[in-house]
Amino acid sequence: MAYPYRHPKEVRLLSEHFGDPHARRLEGWRERGGYRALEKALQMGPDAVIEEVKTSGLRGRGGAGFPAGVKWSFMPREPVKPQYLVCNADESEPGTFKDRELLRWTPHQVIEGCIIAAYGIRAKQAYIYCRGEFFETTRVLARAVEEAYEAGYLGKNVVGSGADVDLTVHVGAGAYICGEETGLMNSLEGRRGQPRVKPPFPAAHGVFGMPTTVNNVETLSAVPHIVLNGGSWYRQWGTEKSPGTKLFCVSGHVRRPGNYELPLGFDFRELIYDVCGGIPGDRALKAVIPGGSSVPILTAREIGCGLDYESVAKAGSMLGCGSVIVMDETTCIVKQVRRMVQFYAHESCGQCTPCREGTAWMTNVLRRIEDGRGREEDLDALLEVSEQVTGTTICVLSDSAAAPVVSSIKKFRDEYLAHIRRGECLAAAAAAA
Ligand code: SF4
Repeated sequence: MAYPYRHPKEVRLLSEHFGDPHARRLEGWRERGGYRALEKALQMGPDAVIEEVKTSGLRGRGGAGFPAGVKWSFMPREPVKPQYLVCNADESEPGTFKDRELLRWTPHQVIEGCIIAAYGIRAKQAYIYCRGEFFETTRVLARAVEEAYEAGYLGKNVVGSGADVDLTVHVGAGAYICGEETGLMNSLEGRRGQPRVKPPFPAAHGVFGMPTTVNNVETLSAVPHIVLNGGSWYRQWGTEKSPGTKLFCVSGHVRRPGNYELPLGFDFRELIYDVCGGIPGDRALKAVIPGGSSVPILTAREIGCGLDYESVAKAGSMLGCGSVIVMDETTCIVKQVRRMVQFYAHESCGQCTPCREGTAWMTNVLRRIEDGRGREEDLDALLEVSEQVTGTTICVLSDSAAAPVVSSIKKFRDEYLAHIRRGECLAAAAAAA
């Protein structure tokens, strides 16, 4: 089973064994060096593990980019009550498909990262909260967890160290909002998957009211490599503030879409035109969404930057989870933005009025414009509502819906006006040419 195209510029730490069926099983994983990092971590002790991850500068790969070691250090070091590690595997952001691959090809890499992290933060129970639609992935992962228990990597007295770590795979029911860490925690507890007001933050009051750390699959997958080779070793890739490698999920109008593991700071244009082979038919690039559908859209002129947290922010967007959606000149921006906002309207949990009403209203207005029934004043109204739903709600889902609306009206106003004034789609003309 050959894994899709790989590029020589990739630095494959986490993705080295994608496509290798033997790496999925415990014996195969051990033959590839698996679980040596866990044995080393157990000898180092929890504080040294946290320090090593801090030294690496590893930042959370779920979107926020918060330093993982710092997050771990918020957990009580002398627990007086149970504390938990949660691996967020509810990957649902449109355009994102990296965690699924890490889980289905290298489940033991994720499990090893979970055990080391749980040991570091002194949690005896860890959960992997897995997206409901990941049928094959969940099966592969559950079998790997069983293997890890049988080998003594999980359970009481992990490989004779005296540490106890249990791991439970919990499958969600397919709600996007359960990828938000507090919505995830509610769902894990058997409640409705609705986000909670913060503070209190999970490190103080998380799952079942206990101190909890939530980390993304990719973040935890990097941990065994860092522990085994050292935090300074990990810093040989990436930039000073964004160290290490990152899996970029590239989709849309490129010749070779897929997952590519590259050093952070890698040139944005090179990713599209070299690694991904450029745009089919050599059509012109119109826009790129650099970090999943919830971040501002960049124009073709704005991608002359590196792919790291700081550079993409400077260019006017966010690296997010590294999900790069490429759109060429045949893409109707109005339609794409309407589809994204419609997604968020559908996935709104409904707790907050600005989100529940605002996302539905924006979807309706965008559809009206797309269909040629819009008015010019709709654009100002969309911008005003976007402002009203940003920063006024419990979680950032409504901010996520507003980001593409605001950036697209600012950068592609002519496309909106063509739909409104003449019922014309500029992208349709490009597609027909
Ligand atoms: Fe739910 Fe939207 Fe409020 Fe988030 S912002 S809690 S998704 S209603």
